[in-house]
Formats: sequence, structure tokens, C-alpha cells
Amino acid sequence: MPELRREAILRRWVAISDPPAIETAEGCPFCPGNEARTPPETYALREPPGPPNSTGWQVRVVSNKYPFFRLEGGMAKRAEGMYDLMNNLGAHEIVIETPDHEETWPQMELRQLENIIKAYRQRYMELRGDPRFKQIFVARHNRRSAHDYHNSLSHIVTMAVIPRRIDEEINGTLDYLRRKDRCIFCDIIYQEQRDQTRVIIDTESFLTFAPYASRYRYETWVMPKGHLPDFARITDPQISDLAYNLKTIYTKFQKALDDPVVSFILHTTPLQEAYREEYHWHIELRPRLERQPGFEWGTGFFINFVAPERAAAALREA
Ligand SMILES: [Zn+2]
Ligand SMILES: [Zn+2]
Ligand SMILES: [Zn+2]
Repeated sequence: MPELRREAILRRWVAISDPPAIETAEGCPFCPGNEARTPPETYALREPPGPPNSTGWQVRVVSNKYPFFRLEGGMAKRAEGMYDLMNNLGAHEIVIETPDHEETWPQMELRQLENIIKAYRQRYMELRGDPRFKQIFVARHNRRSAHDYHNSLSHIVTMAVIPRRIDEEINGTLDYLRRKDRCIFCDIIYQEQRDQTRVIIDTESFLTFAPYASRYRYETWVMPKGHLPDFARITDPQISDLAYNLKTIYTKFQKALDDPVVSFILHTTPLQEAYREEYHWHIELRPRLERQPGFEWGTGFFINFVAPERAAAALREA
């Protein structure tokens, strides 16, 4: 079933999947002791070392039991009457970020956050070896509070197509480069450091700030200061610095915004022939606040009722 259907008017690809509801009747499938209820692990950190798929792990990565991608075969582009569709080729892995069912980023040791980012890097390095794949994302939606589902999970999503959003960012990057001969992301960092009003956290290797034209209330970007197209090339010292930025901004969201659900997406260069040295990887964060206006859904036009300068000030003080 997992397939990509093309919306005929705007020519947008939509992933259609219809998985069964996840059974949590026998408890959380991601908690220690339930390793047999997930597909075999693709990565785990165990200190002290132990056999695969046993307990005693600090971070564990498994394939999604109900993938919205197919790993086997090709894309099989085809038509259904006037409509276009193809197999949704790709991979979907779940990073179980902690053995603790309820622990979230504000409570976690920095060391544990570093372990999670290292798991992203390790899986990224491995998945990029498959020539069918063009783009890898890390996505994450923390849970608000205790739940029958593990609180701290992230998703590594590998796709055989480059999604429109990345395509648009790359076009913007190349257009700016042609006009000014500079990286637009590097210029944004320089401008934000000069203005200061939208900066939330400023460390040696990363800048965390509210973007100038934030689409969503309290939207926040975390960006490496050096020109780095490819997340996979992140170094261990940069991982420590990123862990500090993420823990700090999630703690600030929790304090200033009453512990919201936060959507997290990591944007990095596409792979293979689409690899872009000009791109500059970054993380975009969006607290999911109540009463988000639905205007954008109907018009494609965003309205934001909190000025980014006010959002940044509130988060700096939190
Ligand atoms: Zn759990
Ligand atoms: Zn740059
Ligand atoms: Zn982006």
C-alpha cells in the first residue's frame, strides 16, 4: 500500500499509507524488556556491551513496524486513469532516545542528548550508501506528558524523491549565490548576530534564533555557524554544542509556553547526484500552540500573531 500519489492540480506528491493502529495493550513496545516486539535493531548503544536486541541499551534504533515506505524494489511510476502514482520507496527508522518511558529533553543529561545525535549521524552515514535514496530527514514530535506511548522518540526518514520544501530552499540558496556570491544561511547568521534582537542562544558552533519572518508563533531555527552542507559531517565537539542548544531551547519552550508539543525537522543536503555543497544544514522547530489560525491551510499565506523579536525576548528570559 505505501504509495505516492500526485495531486493533479498542484502536482504535489502525497504519501498515502494506511497502517493498523499501534497496539499498546501489552504495554509500550519501546520500553526495555519489550525488545522482541519491535523489528530487529539497526543500531544500539549499550554500555557495558551486550548482545543485539537485549536490554541494557541507552539508545536503540529499529525499523518502523508499520512503514509508510517500501524498502524493496523500485519506484514503479505508473498511471491510474488521469492520475500519477508510484511506490513510496524509502526507509523509516525509529530512534528510541532513552530507556525511560517518560523522560524528555529538558530532563535528559547532555551526555544522553549527545548519544542521540550520534545515533542520527551513524544511521545517516549508513543509509546514504543506498544509491536509490535522495534525501534523509530527522523528524521528532515530543509528547506532552505521560502516555501509553514512549515520550522521546525520533524518526529517521529516507526518501527516494527530494521533497518540494528542500527543493525550494535549494533554489533560494542558488539564486542568492548567483546574485551575491555568498551563502544565504551564512549571511543570515551574520545579520542575526549583528541585530541580536532575535537571537536566543549563541554558542561557539551554533546560533539558535527566531527567524525574521517566522511563519509560526515561537518558530525557532538552530543553525551551525560554519558553512556545513551535510549533517553527516558534524564533529563530536559540534555534537556537544548542538546537544546544549537543543536541551536549552526545549527547556525554554517548556517554561515559557507551558510544555508544548514541539515539531522538529532537520534539513540537510540531498544525496547522490543532487548533493549540494552550497546548502547549509539546519534544524527548524515549531512549538504546536493552540489556536493556530487555519488561514495558511486555505491560502498558503501565513499569519503570525507573535513578533519574532518578542518571541526571542520571552525565550531568552525563560
Ligand atoms: Zn515506553
Ligand atoms: Zn553557509
Ligand atoms: Zn529548512
